[in-house]
Amino acid sequence: MRQKKFMLPESEIPTHYFNMQAVMPNKPLPFLHPQTKAPLRPEDLYPIFCEECARQELNQTDVWIPIPEPVREQYAAYRCTPLVRAYELEAALGTPAHIYYKNESVSPAGSHKLNSAIAQAWYAKNQGITNLTTETGAGQWGGALSYATSKFGIDCAVYMVKVSYEQKPFRRSIMQAFGATVTPSPSMSTRAGKDILTRNPNDRGSLGCAISEAIELAMTTPNCKYALGSVMNHVCMHQSVIGLEAEKQMALAGEYPDTVIACFGGGSNFCGIALPFMRHNMDGTRNTRFIAAEPCSCPKLTRGKFEYDFGDEAGMTPLLPMYTLGHSFKPASIHAGGLRYHGAGVMLSQLMKDGYMEAMDIEQLDSFKAGVLFARTEGIIPAPESCHAIAATIKEAEKCKETGEPKTILFCLSGHGFVDMASYDKYFSGEMQNYHVSDEDLAGFIKSADELN
Ligand SMILES: *Cc1c(COP(=O)(O)O)cnc(C)c1O
Repeated sequence: MRQKKFMLPESEIPTHYFNMQAVMPNKPLPFLHPQTKAPLRPEDLYPIFCEECARQELNQTDVWIPIPEPVREQYAAYRCTPLVRAYELEAALGTPAHIYYKNESVSPAGSHKLNSAIAQAWYAKNQGITNLTTETGAGQWGGALSYATSKFGIDCAVYMVKVSYEQKPFRRSIMQAFGATVTPSPSMSTRAGKDILTRNPNDRGSLGCAISEAIELAMTTPNCKYALGSVMNHVCMHQSVIGLEAEKQMALAGEYPDTVIACFGGGSNFCGIALPFMRHNMDGTRNTRFIAAEPCSCPKLTRGKFEYDFGDEAGMTPLLPMYTLGHSFKPASIHAGGLRYHGAGVMLSQLMKDGYMEAMDIEQLDSFKAGVLFARTEGIIPAPESCHAIAATIKEAEKCKETGEPKTILFCLSGHGFVDMASYDKYFSGEMQNYHVSDEDLAGFIKSADELN
């Protein structure tokens, strides 16, 4: 029988995170204080983030950062995750390409986000922090952080955008099942929320407002810090466990990827699977292609601009050097909620600018078509975000069919879609549509970033 799954034992869970910042030839530009424009030091981030995360965020010297043993022990609940050869997808496409996927959907939270949530919860615990707070839109990050904090006895408060709180009750229940307190945002529990509700009692909330509420809680509550699920360098680095395992598993399969693909929201699952392989491009021993798959409706890498911008809509973060559509960008309400972010992580933006990777934009309908084919061939219903990686993989595999080249393609299956069946329902009923952003609209939004430079 041909081998389909390439598994590693728990003892092979990585012992160190890979820190690309220490390896890349052009380091990311500094984060800047929004008023003074002074470069930020790790200490400047201590009031908001736990100290170890703040140090990792700006660490440009240590290539390998040890993974604490309690974190590895929690990883053992689902790691090492399987690497799978998608034989049936290959057959359905009639492609000579060899397609592999790293299955991060097997985590208790259903996505890769738990890899960073566990690390952040442990670093907080180790520093004597008792409470973590965050915001969530679609609910995946909130679910992951709720689970991770419960493992280390930390209280977790999640501000969930009110419209999602009402429309996605199952995500809310998942967070509650893991013991988190979920508050619809805007709420009366913070000044930021109160201000908005006083002006409009029927406000349905936004991610910007939920971020403001979570940060305010962290800054005004003793022993409480804020945790983010994507974009930040330390989050992207925690995800390197994906690629480090995949590298060993590809060797078990006797192959090395010609192309590595992942969907792209803020960049964490992309960095996770891609950067451990990219280091071999940098030392000249390999020549792999890296493709970030983003939605056409939120095209920060394919059509955005590299410049300093705020990380959030409200303009509370430091200025970050990144590919951005402008912090005022309002993405269409596509079903892949995790990909609706206006910017790209700082480390990854520099790698993109320096030509180490490329990006591909994917139509919403193409993403679901790809997801359904994957479900029918490989037996896993993918998250709407992950469908973008699958659609990009199919495009590349179809090119191999034209050229006859048996390329090896590896993609990251970032999560499953069991809690997203309402989106599949829209697709099957024919109510789903594609969204495009016109050049004029885009130019208008990017102006909100131009003005800061
Ligand atoms: C959040 C999320 C993403 C997008 O975030 P990245 O940081 O870009 O990885 C992708 N897939 C799933 C399943 C997610 O939950």
